[in-house]
Amino acid sequence: MATRERGTVRRAAGGVYEVELEGGAVVRAVLRGRLKLEQRTGDRVVPGDRVEVERHPDGSVTIEAVEDRRSELARQAPGTRGRRAKVIVANVDQVVVVFAAARPAPQPRLLDRFLVLAEWNRLPAVVVVNKVDLVGEDAARAAFRAYEAAGYPVLLTSVPERRGLEELRARLCGRTSVFTGPSGVGKSSLLNAIEPGLTLRTAAVGRAGAGRHTTVTAELIPLRCGGYVADTPGLRELGLWGVAAEELDACFPEFRPYLGVCRFGRSCSHTHEPECAVRAAVEAGAIPRERYESYRSLRAEAEEASRR
Ligand code: GDP
Ligand code: ZN
Repeated sequence: MATRERGTVRRAAGGVYEVELEGGAVVRAVLRGRLKLEQRTGDRVVPGDRVEVERHPDGSVTIEAVEDRRSELARQAPGTRGRRAKVIVANVDQVVVVFAAARPAPQPRLLDRFLVLAEWNRLPAVVVVNKVDLVGEDAARAAFRAYEAAGYPVLLTSVPERRGLEELRARLCGRTSVFTGPSGVGKSSLLNAIEPGLTLRTAAVGRAGAGRHTTVTAELIPLRCGGYVADTPGLRELGLWGVAAEELDACFPEFRPYLGVCRFGRSCSHTHEPECAVRAAVEAGAIPRERYESYRSLRAEAEEASRR
């Protein structure tokens, strides 16, 4: 009898799965028949899944079983609202969102969008502010103060000054991290500074032509210190990923103490209703106005999407 080995799916393409076995070897595997059926019904095997594989005498390898996931980065599949989510990466420990203190200028609305996706997936998020050398630590910290106030760890980094790199490295080692942010903020430079040779595929994909973006799926990049960086090129292009308007307020951690306190309770949209606890908190300075404005614009977008 062939023996089973455990491993982690690093990549999936065209029905072939690249699996890193516990011993470190990487094999290419296909799904066993029963799993193939589940695949068609929507329960896909994705990067990050822990699997059991069997090696056969003819050299082929099959995935025989998939372990329960402890977390997922998922989006609501288009046209299936309220039904199945499409899982992008399994067993994610954290979402690391990188922005620059300058060049390019921070885009709080985009950062808020990434954080909503993390919250919606119940994944812890870390904000990395890179290129701190361009504006200085005080200005960088001030620009991202609302995120610290909301409870997110904010890490200030600079590649040329090697600032914050050890702290970032310590946060990545031994974990599976979705590493994302707009292009040009220094994601590849940071990864390379932490571990030479480590880089994301996204830059290369961008040069290959915009039309290919949608076909690029997630991939786990192994770290020498243990753990993985999940490269998820599609993350930046997919809008709100099906987060419904009424789920948005709970995706802003600093709103949570006020939810349900409004006159209209949990049905309050916090946009126009009388006696809204969230709006009162904004007026009192307890919720940063910028974050509230982001909420309003994302809510309008979610409502618009649900009408289509
Ligand atoms: P990515 O698109 O997010 O992967 O960004 P890159 O790593 O390609 O970096 C974009 C540009 O920013 C490059 O010219 C880098 O040399 C530069 N860069 C990266 N990190 C820093 C930094 O901490 N400080 C400064 N001043 N420039 C940086
Ligand atoms: Zn309200």
